[in-house]
Amino acid sequence: MAQLSDDCFAFGGPLMSVDEAVGIIVARVKAVCEVEAVSLIEADGRILAHDVAAPLPLPPFTNSAVDGYALPSGDLPQALERAFPMSGRVQAGHAAQAAEPGHAVRIFTGAPMPGGTDTVFMQEDIRVDEAGRVVVPPGLKAGANVRLAGEDIAAGDVALKAGTRLRPQDVALAAALGLTGLAVARRIKVAVFSTGDELASPGTSRAPSQLFDSNRFMLMAMLRRLGCEVSDLGILRDQRTLLAQALQQAAAMHDLILTTGGVSTGEEDHVKAGVDSVGSLVLWRMAIKPGRPVAMGIIGGTPFIGLPGNPVASFVTFVHVVRPTVLALSGARLAHPVAIPVRAAFTYKKKGGRREYVRVNLRKRADGELEAIKFPREGAGLLSSLVETDGLVELGESVTKVEPGQHVGFLGYAALL
Ligand code: AMP
Ligand code: MG
Repeated sequence: MAQLSDDCFAFGGPLMSVDEAVGIIVARVKAVCEVEAVSLIEADGRILAHDVAAPLPLPPFTNSAVDGYALPSGDLPQALERAFPMSGRVQAGHAAQAAEPGHAVRIFTGAPMPGGTDTVFMQEDIRVDEAGRVVVPPGLKAGANVRLAGEDIAAGDVALKAGTRLRPQDVALAAALGLTGLAVARRIKVAVFSTGDELASPGTSRAPSQLFDSNRFMLMAMLRRLGCEVSDLGILRDQRTLLAQALQQAAAMHDLILTTGGVSTGEEDHVKAGVDSVGSLVLWRMAIKPGRPVAMGIIGGTPFIGLPGNPVASFVTFVHVVRPTVLALSGARLAHPVAIPVRAAFTYKKKGGRREYVRVNLRKRADGELEAIKFPREGAGLLSSLVETDGLVELGESVTKVEPGQHVGFLGYAALL
């Protein structure tokens, strides 16, 4: 760990791995238990509160998967084609009469199977002879082109699991089961502050020594994507007592407090001391770049996360620390984003013992493989580096260098939020 000595010197103790830090905070967080009913049109993105058992099978009745002709499998020709007189016709949405023995029934996609039949010939595979009979070829398997009742989901099975972050396809399944709404966890309430004398809110006048606050808007947008109800609490100035008071007040009304800036150990970084004075700091620095330091704590029973001020560090630590915390608070099953293997199109050296994220664009190589092209500049303050890239390459703690052509794990921004 000798290579970490400068970090240890700067921040006064060993660094904690991202997984360890997230494990600690997620274990301390209690999911909100209030449940609310939402209509299906409001359900996308919400966290399902209870398992949903299927009140009916899907499909609800056995039906034809194609337009064609239905027969009993006992009548299927084995070696030579065979002709059947036609009788009966059943359309989707209409009841089927039982089939007349020895006859083929005209049937359409989605129509219920007539009693006595279990197999459908596609209309493309038959011909009609001069006598108006359906001539079917040999070789079709019994039960072909039929969708059995319950083959998708059996009645009583758990169709949607508690803790699912609902997606359009989950909402579709609920609708197919005839449900009009779902019970979901209430949205978690998150207070967001920026900190720093150097910040001006967009829309206010900016002193020459100030920059417009961008992190607060980025963080609020990310939180909303995660389904949170966000309170925009503006900018806290670098003033310990006022900062502590504001955090304490916010704690009473929120499920999570998020700040950006002021978590380093400079004399004007007051967040750590502020949290300490009204709550407790549970951990402090993480082995992540860009990112470290990240502060976490509890104020009046409410979890607190203090992200760094540099925009890229703020973004990366949000994704890896705030996102799992928010999901745990909302009772969501934790799904770690899966890194896709791609070829590095860059050389990179890093310290062992910490995780690093490299901003990259993806490009398809001549051989069809995807390769990751590193954004040319590395500064943690460069917003353009997030705007102009597709995602992050994740380099684990054990990696110390990357050579061109090597496989690395890519996390697209869309998958991270
Ligand atoms: P700090 O973590 O407070 O030391 O801030 C590090 C750097 O991040 C500062 O020099 C600012 O330029 C930048 N920064 C801090 N907060 C914000 C913010 N809310 N929006 C944009 N940049 C910020
Ligand atoms: Mg600051």
